[in-house]
Amino acid sequence: MIKTDFNIQMVDLKGQYNKIKEEVDRAILNVIESASFIRGPEVKSFQQELEDYLEVKHVIPCANGTDALQIALMALGLKPGDEVITSDFTFAATVEVIGLLQLKPILVDVDPDTFCIDVKKMEAAITPNTKAVVPVHLFGQCANMEAIMEVAKKHNLFVIEDNAQAIGSDYTFSSGETQKAGTIGNIGTTSFFPSKNLGCYGDGGALYTNDDELAKICNSIVNHGMGERYHYERLGVNSRLDTVQAAVLRIKLRELDNYSAARNRAAAYYDNAFATVDQIQTPVRNEKSTHVFHQYTLVSKGINQFELQQFLKERGIPCMIYYPKPLHTQNAYKTSEMKDEDFEVTNALCNSVFSLPMHTELTNDELAFITSSVNEFINK
Ligand SMILES: *Cc1c(COP(=O)(O)O)cnc(C)c1O
Repeated sequence: MIKTDFNIQMVDLKGQYNKIKEEVDRAILNVIESASFIRGPEVKSFQQELEDYLEVKHVIPCANGTDALQIALMALGLKPGDEVITSDFTFAATVEVIGLLQLKPILVDVDPDTFCIDVKKMEAAITPNTKAVVPVHLFGQCANMEAIMEVAKKHNLFVIEDNAQAIGSDYTFSSGETQKAGTIGNIGTTSFFPSKNLGCYGDGGALYTNDDELAKICNSIVNHGMGERYHYERLGVNSRLDTVQAAVLRIKLRELDNYSAARNRAAAYYDNAFATVDQIQTPVRNEKSTHVFHQYTLVSKGINQFELQQFLKERGIPCMIYYPKPLHTQNAYKTSEMKDEDFEVTNALCNSVFSLPMHTELTNDELAFITSSVNEFINK
């Protein structure tokens, strides 16, 4: 291990906390003093502030991003066996909830540049049983929502945006109209897991929608399917954002655009340092979407990403492989119908991507050390 003065992390939650410590400590103490741990006033305030930020009619807070996806699918009233299309290259939660509800997950390959669902392949996967698509805004930028919405409209499909990684990013349609990630489809879902771009200090999540009826159903599902008090209209779950988390999120929501800007500054530093390095491809921007860099993910061209990871580890630099194994090859999700050759891009990405430290607290000295170390490995 090479000794340096740096303490570089994939995500520096402690450093970020230190900058808002007084405000956060006071807010958490206030919740404890009030003893309103569940459904406290902070939850309602955060809900309204997030609605304003996203310019969306309804935010429904819930317990985590996986619940948000599950509740969104439950709200659509699908039947067992209905097909739901999503991406092969995403976090498992997206696919897991489809299967849990006895729906049939149909995995589709991704675009080699943006890593988001390949819309042509998505359309080709539609059958008479397809009822919904779940595009994932991977690593911080939007999937091609304009094309996805056109296909969904043509085939009468619901669209649920998995926005766990891209909160705050903006998508611009060819009309010039701009909307926040997650507010374009029927329902958007997000996670406030601590390491997400808007993370709380535990678990948390939310759904958002402009559809009054879907909002009503989601609000009922999160609360055991209740309509009027103690009148149960449908099967529901227990999924709540607790008051302490809402209090933290109110403070961090006010910082979210600054956080996105800090991530973009780090990304620009990386982009610049690797611009002329043939062995790695820097993130390709979808010109319709801003990027909030949940991850800064490179594609290696002829270097072994695991050897690089080991080399960096010896210098105290974390490097993660998101994601190392396509979902269509996982024991939990594989079926005889899915053919490996249909997932050319995901297969290649799983063998070549690596993500460098990306957070709001990276200093130029740290970035210089990380980028020079990567370049040293490449030129070795
Ligand atoms: C984190 C994440 C989730 C799940 O969120 P949790 O709050 O951990 O349940 C779902 N989808 C994607 C793409 C994620 O990154």
